[in-house]
Amino acid sequence: MRGMDAVAAHVAACPISAEGEAPIVVSCRGLYKSFGDVRAVDGLDLELPSGAIGALLGPSGCGKTTLLRLIAGFERPDEGSIAIGDATVSDGSRFVPPERRRTGMVFQDYALFPHLDVAGNVGYALGRRPDAARVREVLALVGLEGLGARRPHELSGGQQQRVALARALAPTPALILLDEPFSNLDAALRDRVRGEVRSILRAARVTALLVTHDQEEALSLADTVAVMRAGRIEQAGTPEEVYGSPANRWVGEFLGEIDVLPGEAGAGVASCALGRVPAPRDLTGPVEVLIRPESIAVGMLGDDGEHEAIVVERTFYGHDQLVTLELRGGPRLRSRSVGFPSWHPGDRLRVRLAGPVTVVPAKPTHS
Ligand code: ADP
Ligand code: MG
Repeated sequence: MRGMDAVAAHVAACPISAEGEAPIVVSCRGLYKSFGDVRAVDGLDLELPSGAIGALLGPSGCGKTTLLRLIAGFERPDEGSIAIGDATVSDGSRFVPPERRRTGMVFQDYALFPHLDVAGNVGYALGRRPDAARVREVLALVGLEGLGARRPHELSGGQQQRVALARALAPTPALILLDEPFSNLDAALRDRVRGEVRSILRAARVTALLVTHDQEEALSLADTVAVMRAGRIEQAGTPEEVYGSPANRWVGEFLGEIDVLPGEAGAGVASCALGRVPAPRDLTGPVEVLIRPESIAVGMLGDDGEHEAIVVERTFYGHDQLVTLELRGGPRLRSRSVGFPSWHPGDRLRVRLAGPVTVVPAKPTHS
């Protein structure tokens, strides 16, 4: 999809900005991009405030990489506009080439130049006569001071990634774009490297847009998460908002475990098998109550008239347990709680809501 030449042209030509820091926002409006019959980006709007780490989260093939490439200028949109900072970089009449967009890109495979050492890779982004002091400065920023003379193959995966990040940061771009930056690291490393990258992006005070299909990664790393499906943004908000108040059932299920109870709404309340829960005022009639397992608490049966359930299945994970329950009348729910006491199939328990739930119309607006 992308030749090394394109990478070289991009990293070499990002300008070294001397002007003062303008408030930086990346803004996409009504973006469309098709490849033949495939609508990769299908009427997409997105905004990212200055200084934020944004995550673009969605399943494989939903158009995440295409969107990053549109923002970077490696692709032209069929329709719509893109602004970076104060400048419109792409619309019906304008197309600013990648090297003049003040963006830095960290590619999924890092795309380091194998024949150049670390300092050479980073310096490449600064043009023909790279400022050695700036190279040292960004290498220190990413924690690679002293490794400038190494070749990429002499570094660990995590270190290679930091070289790629240093290269992207060297010209002080307005925006850093990272495409699945942790997918090449093994699970044990990933957690640590995520934390490091977050600290580096914060220290560099740069706005970043990170693409991932990994829910945990998006939720734990980003200030704002845009959930993408089939070329569109389904919901954008803080990690807490998209996880705790999903816009629809698909978003809820994509971000984690969810169970659904049918309900009936009116006057800001929905009734379901677990009683009455707050609902949006404008909802009336059949609804779905979306419930995360950690919002369901279980305990010994009392005589306080609370809802009774039978344990169907229980899985122990050490730090917690997941208990599948059957309510009277048949609906099933899962409850996640600390790993003790240990419940067993057949146990009769009381169930109560102990956390937020989301009420959405029974007929989803998206199919
Ligand atoms: P993601 O990064 O979310 O996995 P992509 O943006 O890579 O998704 O791809 C979105 C859709 O567009 C997919 O169906 C993919 O096959 C298609 N696509 C992406 N790039 C091209 C291309 N250069 N030519 C043809 N189809 C493409
Ligand atoms: Mg991709």
